[in-house]
Amino acid sequence: MTRDKKLIIGNWKMNLGVQESSLYVHKLAEKVQIHRNVEVVLAPTMLTLQTLSLQVNFRQFKLAAQNFYWRDSGAFTGEVSATQLRGIVQYGIIGHSERRHVFHETDKDTRAKVQAAIRNGIRPVLCIGETANERAIGETDDILYDQLIGGLANVTSEELNEVVIAYEPVWAIGNGHSASPLDVKTAVRAIRHNLKHLYGAKASEAVQILYGGSVTEHNAADYLELSDVDGFLLGGSSLDAKVFSEIVEKAHKSKN
Ligand code: PEP
Repeated sequence: MTRDKKLIIGNWKMNLGVQESSLYVHKLAEKVQIHRNVEVVLAPTMLTLQTLSLQVNFRQFKLAAQNFYWRDSGAFTGEVSATQLRGIVQYGIIGHSERRHVFHETDKDTRAKVQAAIRNGIRPVLCIGETANERAIGETDDILYDQLIGGLANVTSEELNEVVIAYEPVWAIGNGHSASPLDVKTAVRAIRHNLKHLYGAKASEAVQILYGGSVTEHNAADYLELSDVDGFLLGGSSLDAKVFSEIVEKAHKSKN
């Protein structure tokens, strides 16, 4: 994947059942335009992924798992592996703040999941971001660095091309308090700088970096103006077909 395409991922979290998801995708399919310069990805619950994989036009929507386990198979009751998701999803979200903070996932877990995704031909979307407290005490840069190298530790520069990074400040998620474009610019610059340090200029320039945190149809254009921002990971805005399609249109029209 190159950075010529904007990437818009809608994370539905634990919302919509099987039938509701199917109806919603039907509605989205009528509203969301297909554009060559935008890749639109839906991340429904695990339960609905297979049904939706049979329903969606893959030219219009790709699918993402919100989570998965890092082992490929075995005695892991209740888990679903990247191997099982292969062929159903094209992306896998890893290290979302809710996974880190509600389910206590560590950088060791994110690293294993990034590896599992790559091994199974699924593009990992590694989410990183600081809490309000970490920001207040000046630790943002350290947290972003630690979570980045924590997740990418075993990724080669060739594999890096498949990785997407989502900058998601925890304090901006799901509450309407989006980060300012300046905060996003500073953080995303720092992430790309860290990638350059780890992988060199060419590989780091090719990585898609998304912003996530209370993005709406009203503020999306402000972030899309930032040359380092390649799209969005959307929570709340992905559950409203009109809002979601408007954000896709803004990405299509963005000059970057
Ligand atoms: C998210 O959950 O990744 C997210 C960005 O949520 P919201 O858009 O609702 O802030």
